[in-house]
Amino acid sequence: MIDLRSDTVTKPSPAMREAMAQADVGDDVYGEDPTVNRLECMAAELLGKDAGLFVPSGVMGNQLCIRLHARPGDEVIVESLSHIIRYEGGSASSLSGVQLMCVPGNRGILAVEDVKAVIRKPDLHNPSTTLLCLEQTHNCGGGTVYPLSTIHELAEIARSNGLALHLDGARLFNAVAATGIAASDYARPFDTVSFCLSKALGAPVGSLIVSDGKHMTTLRRLRKLFGGGMRQVGILAAAGIYALEHHVGRLSEDHQHAKRLAQVLSNIPGVQCEPDEVETNMVLFRVAEKLGTTDELLAHCREAGVLLNAVGNRAFRAVTHLDVSAADIDEAGRMFAQAFSLANVR
Ligand SMILES: *Cc1c(COP(=O)(O)O)cnc(C)c1O
Repeated sequence: MIDLRSDTVTKPSPAMREAMAQADVGDDVYGEDPTVNRLECMAAELLGKDAGLFVPSGVMGNQLCIRLHARPGDEVIVESLSHIIRYEGGSASSLSGVQLMCVPGNRGILAVEDVKAVIRKPDLHNPSTTLLCLEQTHNCGGGTVYPLSTIHELAEIARSNGLALHLDGARLFNAVAATGIAASDYARPFDTVSFCLSKALGAPVGSLIVSDGKHMTTLRRLRKLFGGGMRQVGILAAAGIYALEHHVGRLSEDHQHAKRLAQVLSNIPGVQCEPDEVETNMVLFRVAEKLGTTDELLAHCREAGVLLNAVGNRAFRAVTHLDVSAADIDEAGRMFAQAFSLANVR
């Protein structure tokens, strides 16, 4: 099976497992795990912030930052298809009591005027808008890269209205690979940035939050409060260090694979796919109604040997990652051609 459902499906390589087995550990709640401390320093340095915090998941990374920046009843601006609103179980409202103001973007990218228009004026009737969250790269937008100039414009509007800024940078390093812009340049306008080790970087677990030092004591306390204090997790941090050292430089391979797959898909009759829209490791495409329902099409793909996720009615997402080679991509292209052939219509 060629698994293109997500870049979360990667498995730790033998070399990564070896690094995990060799890791020095200690009690991280006491701040005594040397491998976790090293990973947190690495992350802070890479993103140009004072300090880092290792957390079990990307959801926890986002939610600690929302709790840090906003009080119950506050309003937090997010893009309508953002991970925070779609895929985090309603945690912003249930864990921090905030309400989310959803603003539609263009393939996930917000327009400055649209954000400006929803920031609440101080008035006793209004909730206070206290935080703007952006997503890099934008998952549901199709792995779109937030242009740095747009980030700066949005940050200026946010700052001039007293809002804090958080970046859900789950796939920040894919943006870095696509543009050559340093992670620290992307991170600079934000108060807090989270990124995932368990996505395209290929680690089994974990995310990091980075911020300036003044927030870190509170973030550490909130991590404990949210149940994310961990003990001898140097074995997991070692996988993260290995990922940062070995799997960042290769991300452009995934992007080439995605582009190639999009080209193949766009040549299959009945498939609508725009290779020019592929910016990183995700390919979005639609299949004509005459070729089957969403569930039938997914089943044909599975029978042909390729797995992917549906993201709408006959709309699909294929994600390239560390565990799919160039040869797998060619093979997947043939499997899609078979799965989406009229011969499958019964
Ligand atoms: C995957 C993802 C997260 C975090 O998800 P976890 O499964 O909790 O690690 C956050 N934001 C985006 C955009 C993601 O794609």
